[in-house]
Amino acid sequence: MLLHAFVPASRANGPGLRAVIYFQGCSLHCAKCWNPATHKFRGVEVPVLEVVQRFEEASQFGSLEGATFSGGEPMQQAEALLELMRTFRRTAPAVSLGMFTGYTESELACGRFVTRLGATVEQKCELWRAVRGLLDFAVMGRYDQTQPSIAPLRTSRNQRLVLFSSRYQEGDFGPQLVEISIEESGKSVLTGFPVLGVPA
Ligand code: SF4
Repeated sequence: MLLHAFVPASRANGPGLRAVIYFQGCSLHCAKCWNPATHKFRGVEVPVLEVVQRFEEASQFGSLEGATFSGGEPMQQAEALLELMRTFRRTAPAVSLGMFTGYTESELACGRFVTRLGATVEQKCELWRAVRGLLDFAVMGRYDQTQPSIAPLRTSRNQRLVLFSSRYQEGDFGPQLVEISIEESGKSVLTGFPVLGVPA
């Protein structure tokens, strides 16, 4: 998979302490997207198993409740996303899985999305069915700068928080946060909701 970044621990991307896996590549071009560095389908190709291994290593430093897939657009790498989710469900079944996608549920359900590997419409419908069956929650829909939102996890009012399993309820999703993670190399990664303002 094309990986943009891996954040080992975040409280800004869903319930509890979660790893955040940023897919590289998105062709949706929402105006004023705050993460344009994730748009090009170019970068580091990382085996899915390596991502799971990074999650396991991160779990040793704090009990992770789940993983959240972000981007970029995870569904534009749906084949790798599904492999990753299946591996999580096999190796860490208690871990919850969430996703940010710029697509709506109806677009995904009828295969109206693109994948990096050029899946057919039938394949895309099947990919979404399989991904949906493994998800606990997703935030769905394009970012629309004209409809700002302060609702948990949603940056614009058109976006929907969809619960796919009985694990969570709306009240489990806390207010929007901004986080800055500093890696051992000194590189810093901004996560969460900088539309609210970046800490000084
Ligand atoms: S879907 Fe997300 S990453 Fe893609 S352009 Fe829209 S806001 Fe940016």
